[in-house]
Amino acid sequence: MEDVLFQSNDVGIILKALHFASVKHKDQRRKDIQATPYINHPIEVAEILWNLGEIYDPVVIISALLHDTIEDTETTSEEIRNLFGIQICSIVEEVTDDKGLAKAERKQRQIEKASKISREAQFVKLADKISNVRGLASNCPKGWNKERCSQYVQWAEQVVQGMKGINTRLEKEFSLSCEKARKHIQETSFGE
Ligand code: ZN
Repeated sequence: MEDVLFQSNDVGIILKALHFASVKHKDQRRKDIQATPYINHPIEVAEILWNLGEIYDPVVIISALLHDTIEDTETTSEEIRNLFGIQICSIVEEVTDDKGLAKAERKQRQIEKASKISREAQFVKLADKISNVRGLASNCPKGWNKERCSQYVQWAEQVVQGMKGINTRLEKEFSLSCEKARKHIQETSFGE
């Protein structure tokens, strides 16, 4: 196995992105029952890409850390562009939903767009879906019923379908996570 070459310059900018994202998401929590700090999610997405996907491109890792900042915080494209450059900004924009659209429309757009976005954005999107589906395999978001959880898994599968062949290891992990999530949803009593 070839060893990973670690450039200290990359560490600096990766930490800058991590710090930036942690400040932007500082008051947010995930939707799970334990209300996990939001930043755990982008960290997990980046970690999945590096350790599971074996994707060592700092551009992808940084985009993963920043992927929800425009969509879920007050962050603007200009901020990302000024601090992290044009390419990272464009990847983050590619994985950002248009909040001006209704939720159903946004979900449909993700399915349609998945095959058309850049390879780097596809990596981030796939790891994002792995992280979200993994969440459903351990505990479902507060207020979600069985149907909503199942529908999420099904929708995520449709999005990932559009990126088929991009990374075998990540796709395998995604399928496995969907399987686990379905099992968990099946076994969970939602008090209905
Ligand atoms: Zn995300």
